[in-house]
Amino acid sequence: MDYYSSKITALIEEFSRLPGIGAKSAQRLAFHVINMPEERVKGLAQALVEARSGVRYCKECFTLTDEELCPICASGKRDHGIIMVVENTRDLAAYEKTGRYEGVYHVLHGAISPALGIGPADIRLKELMMRLQGEVKEVIIATNSSLEGETTAMYLSKLIKPTGIRVTRIASGVPVGGDLEYIDEVTLLRALEGRTEL
Ligand code: ZN
Repeated sequence: MDYYSSKITALIEEFSRLPGIGAKSAQRLAFHVINMPEERVKGLAQALVEARSGVRYCKECFTLTDEELCPICASGKRDHGIIMVVENTRDLAAYEKTGRYEGVYHVLHGAISPALGIGPADIRLKELMMRLQGEVKEVIIATNSSLEGETTAMYLSKLIKPTGIRVTRIASGVPVGGDLEYIDEVTLLRALEGRTEL
């Protein structure tokens, strides 16, 4: 790979470390950047650095946010007694896009996977249980319908049920193994409305 200047090679290497970027895409991106106006490259670099250093976890729901509390947790218009549990911030965004969910969220940042050695202590479960000591009416489990998502849902329901709080699971209109973020809004709403008691 010595056809290029070492700086271009370094850039290609950086891109190829990103998820879903193969060697060819990394090359294409690197050459695209080289041909961009310098101002735009500076803007891109700045956005990267600021996103990384400025973003943190909401202290309530653990979604990614700029503030101590995310706009959803800070809102007086949301029903703080209903908590929807999702695997990641992208899933939260998918539900937010429907514009029809009025409760708040809890982002686990993963799912239980014995195969990958990810246990209950590796996701934000303890933090969820802490929140349940407040006035919570319902916990909607909206983890993916993958093996990991289902395992997490089962584990959660067993943990929450003894507290007397209502536990529901979104309907399985969501295709098996499908990531929530790729599912259209109508399907998401149907899954939410058709949720069942656990
Ligand atoms: Zn929040």
